[in-house]
Amino acid sequence: MENQDLIVNGQNLSGDNGTIEIKSPWDLQTFASVASASKAQVEDAVSNSDEAFHTWRYSSLSERVEIFNNAIKSLREDSDRLAQLLHKEIGKFEDDARSEINRSIDYMELMISALKHWKGTVYYGDLDPKFPRNKKTGIYSRVPLGVVLAISPFNYPINLSITKIAPALLSGNTVVLKPSTQGAYTSYEFYKHFAKAGLPKGVLNIVSGSSKEIGDPLLTHPLVKLIAFTGSTEVGNHIRKVSLGVPLLLELGGKDIGVVTKHADLDLAVKEIVKGAFSYCGQRCTAQKLALVHSSKYEEFTRRVVEEVQKLELNPMIDEPSASFVMELFNDATSKGAEVKVSPNHDSNKLSPAVVSEVKPEMRVFYEEQFGPLMPIGKYETEEELLKLVNGSPYGLQASVYTKDIDQAFRLADKIEVGTVQINAKPDRGPDNFPFGGVKDSGQLMQGTIETLDLMTRGKMVVVNT
Ligand code: NAP
Repeated sequence: MENQDLIVNGQNLSGDNGTIEIKSPWDLQTFASVASASKAQVEDAVSNSDEAFHTWRYSSLSERVEIFNNAIKSLREDSDRLAQLLHKEIGKFEDDARSEINRSIDYMELMISALKHWKGTVYYGDLDPKFPRNKKTGIYSRVPLGVVLAISPFNYPINLSITKIAPALLSGNTVVLKPSTQGAYTSYEFYKHFAKAGLPKGVLNIVSGSSKEIGDPLLTHPLVKLIAFTGSTEVGNHIRKVSLGVPLLLELGGKDIGVVTKHADLDLAVKEIVKGAFSYCGQRCTAQKLALVHSSKYEEFTRRVVEEVQKLELNPMIDEPSASFVMELFNDATSKGAEVKVSPNHDSNKLSPAVVSEVKPEMRVFYEEQFGPLMPIGKYETEEELLKLVNGSPYGLQASVYTKDIDQAFRLADKIEVGTVQINAKPDRGPDNFPFGGVKDSGQLMQGTIETLDLMTRGKMVVVNT
């Protein structure tokens, strides 16, 4: 069985706590293993990153870009193999795995081009009558923070680590990556290309292990200057509690509602909502996790969704507890009066797609993130009622409004409290140059390209006095 060692200061290290076996969701057989780090090893990784920072921060942008270009080239050559690994490790269809790998490499290129537009500002002192022209000039630039701790989730382990690592390294920070355990094997394989491309030792360290043991030592390490986390709201809230005073970039859970208005194009709404709800078995932060349908379209929408859902073939869920959790929400909803439109088959981590209608706020599935292949459908009458239901959600990542009425589109987009409102399309993170982020329990701060460079640096003034 292939094992991945920790990567600390350019060296491969076995984990002090042995290894962790990773089972492929497709057949639940052990697929590989990764090193399990100890507290002392992650402390070492952070100190090494800090040491490397003092040199890396003064490297020129052209040097960093050259390393990235080398990495891009070698990643492109290896992308098919990486996609195969990802497909096996996290149970994604091959096409989806390939698209995640390619998109992540494309993002590196996007970040390089963003650097061309990343500018400082010059302030002129002569706005103040005390200073004659050219006496005082302020140069405002962005400088790196230091060690960035990047923590990625299982569902997009490569994409949601590169969107942290690329801006962090290009802006002169160093990084400790703690990948999700499921996804860690492919993450190690992906980031080995950076060392091959010439990234100096210690600039990117990778530590896998039990979050119980290494989570808090990483989150509370005094040399960590920024935490960039994507994952569940539960862990995100824990990070908010323990990481006193450290800037946080948090991308957390979502409950993206699809609003089907009386002016909706039903062909479009059904197609987008079904795709949005069930791709990668619903295990996406931006999955369409609840449909709220105007009463005039409710019967037809539900009937057509059921027709489409019956044709679906899904990948397995990441593990058995995740599938059982979806069943728990399904059973809660049906026990409180939801109608079963498509009944799920559940066997270990395999769960077939399910649809329930007549869902109401008192059912857990209305406001809890199912993160699986269950589509709840509810009904509304007035926009006032709709906005109360939508904005009553503890989450605020994205929402979709399906309407052919442009006035209604603007009106609802203005009033729905989320990071992004999609008009006539399912929720989506991309294109990757678009700022993306959530509010409330879905996280804080909008990331993108230049936006993330700004968030991972601080302002610094140099005042030239002549
Ligand atoms: P998770 O259980 O919160 O885990 C996320 C990461 O945090 C993993 O690397 C995990 O490591 C680590 N972790 C767990 N406990 C920790 C602790 N105490 N200290 C430090 N790190 C800890 O989330 P997940 O199941 O991987 O991902 C699904 C969730 O992510 C969903 O809620 C989804 O909506 C959200 N998500 C959000 C976005 C977004 O952009 N808003 C994107 C994708 C996913 P282990 O794997 O070792 O436990």
